Amino acid sequence: MALYRRYKTLADREPGVIFGGRLGEYRYYDMDQVIAKALEVCERRQEEAGTWSGRQKS
Ligand SMILES: Cc1cc2nc3c(=O)[nH]c(=O)nc-3n(C[C@H](O)[C@H](O)[C@H](O)COP(=O)(O)OP(=O)(O)OC[C@H]3O[C@@H](n4cnc5c(N)ncnc54)[C@H](O)[C@@H]3O)c2cc1C
Repeated sequence: MALYRRYKTLADREPGVIFGGRLGEYRYYDMDQVIAKALEVCERRQEEAGTWSGRQKS
């Protein structure tokens, strides 16, 4: 956990990079969870940037 925190500190200094998934968050994820999380993070970033127009209906 100490090693993760060291990497997290370095990652937080990279505003142009999104670190995610098992490797980036140091968490156990199944595939559906990791994809849902990636979509959630992208939506949040787009909302923050004011470029989010809502999830496409299928
Ligand atoms: C044997 C096995 C069976 C599984 N079976 C299932 C299943 O049946 N159903 C299910 O839902 N999930 C399953 N999973 C889990 C699923 O594989 C993970 O949830 C999913 O792959 C996680 O995605 P991720 O993007 O977080 O990580 P990964 O898919 O592991 O992607 C991480 C990527 O980062 C790259 N990388 C590593 N280090 C670096 C570095 N220093 N610099 C740049 N890139 C780097 C790696 O090469 C890799 O491409 C299984 C996992 C394993 C190992």
